[in-house]
Amino acid sequence: MARIQTPNRVRGTQDIFGSEQRRFAHVLDTFDRVRKLYCFGRVEIPMFEATEVFARSIGETTDVVSKEMYTFPDRGGDSLTLRPEFTAGIARAYLTEGWQQFAPLKIATSGAVFRYERPQKGRYRQFHQIDAEILGAPEPAADVELLTLADQLLHELGIADGVTLQLNTLGDAATRDAWRDALVAHFEQHRGELSEDSLKRLDKNPMRILDSKDPKDRPIADAAPGIDDYLTTEARAFFEAVTSGLDAAGVKWTRNDRLVRGLDYYRHTAFEFVTDRLGAQGTVLAGGRYDGLIESLGGQPTAGVGWAAGVERLAMLLEAELADFMVAVIPDDPSCMLKAQALTNHLRKQNIAANIGFRGNAKKRTDAARKMGAQGAIFVRSENDTRGEFYLSQFKPDPGLKFYSMIDDAMPSWATGLFNQSPSA
Ligand code: ATP
Ligand code: MG
Repeated sequence: MARIQTPNRVRGTQDIFGSEQRRFAHVLDTFDRVRKLYCFGRVEIPMFEATEVFARSIGETTDVVSKEMYTFPDRGGDSLTLRPEFTAGIARAYLTEGWQQFAPLKIATSGAVFRYERPQKGRYRQFHQIDAEILGAPEPAADVELLTLADQLLHELGIADGVTLQLNTLGDAATRDAWRDALVAHFEQHRGELSEDSLKRLDKNPMRILDSKDPKDRPIADAAPGIDDYLTTEARAFFEAVTSGLDAAGVKWTRNDRLVRGLDYYRHTAFEFVTDRLGAQGTVLAGGRYDGLIESLGGQPTAGVGWAAGVERLAMLLEAELADFMVAVIPDDPSCMLKAQALTNHLRKQNIAANIGFRGNAKKRTDAARKMGAQGAIFVRSENDTRGEFYLSQFKPDPGLKFYSMIDDAMPSWATGLFNQSPSA
């Protein structure tokens, strides 16, 4: 019979396993803990939306909408798109689900997002984001709270040292109009030298050229006028409120007046947390204020500010080798397998992660337990063994939990309990 060809993993998708998975989960767990400290409620939103949700709110001229979306007609003929980000879907839900009544609303979510990109390290077609948003708060204190949340998250992950917060303002509508005119005048002078993509941007959204990664565009973008000369009094006051709030909260930042976010709806605050440890994929967390977004979806003018971070990129920065606590139960010989199984069940009911192998002698089981990352083992001895019922052996030091010898009276309570009541009873 001809051998059946195994289908490949789809390009740009990932199978996340072992230590990589533990890092990934650690990022999500830490985010969930920290967002609760800031009283952000968790929401779940659909993985796909009507295409127009993203097209209208992200903007037709962005890379995300023009090149990267997974868009398909469903069997009913509707055009659907797999979410390339969370903000647009959250804004849609805010309007269609009546979440306005909870404004100002602080919400967080996480999950898979999809973009048709050229896969490389730190860049996938299905990747994962954590996301935090505040809707219905035009106050700069909301921007400060979101940035402080991001900063605390990076500290608790232990990666804050290698990551810099780059901050900019894009001003209010009047600021943007004036700055836009100045940018157009500048770029018009260099029409002949710009990349093809940037020529298109010049007509539709010249600010995007500042964001260009094309080496052809970089010198022209770097020489473009900054926004500061065009800030209105209000826009300047807003930015100062954000920066003084960050200073008061002890959040370190640097000004990057070239920083524009790719999306159309940004106003005032724009920011990225950047590292040089991930090569070209150096932006780990990014966001800003998007006061125009809800209107682009047909809602009343509504303020919004938020950020998203790539879970994979954060996970890649984690230094520590993460391990889950686990104890192996090892029968000395086949006669004590039932007793070992009873002990394993007993441990699990006491909320202690315990594993028992399915086969092998004590030596083989011990090797397998070490390979699985067990912190230690409890050997179960046979009936006629005069040395006692159990023997505890610590494989590696664990700051949280220690193994003690059986005669040690400082034995942890779970272990003491274990020897006081017969597990086979
Ligand atoms: P980049 O400039 O790297 O393409 P972006 O500006 O498109 O990033 P955002 O839309 O701001 O990214 O998304 C927020 C975060 O999601 C990024 O800072 C990054 O950590 C992560 N991210 C974006 N695209 C990808 C991807 N294709 N694979 C993995 N992570 C990604
Ligand atoms: Mg991108």
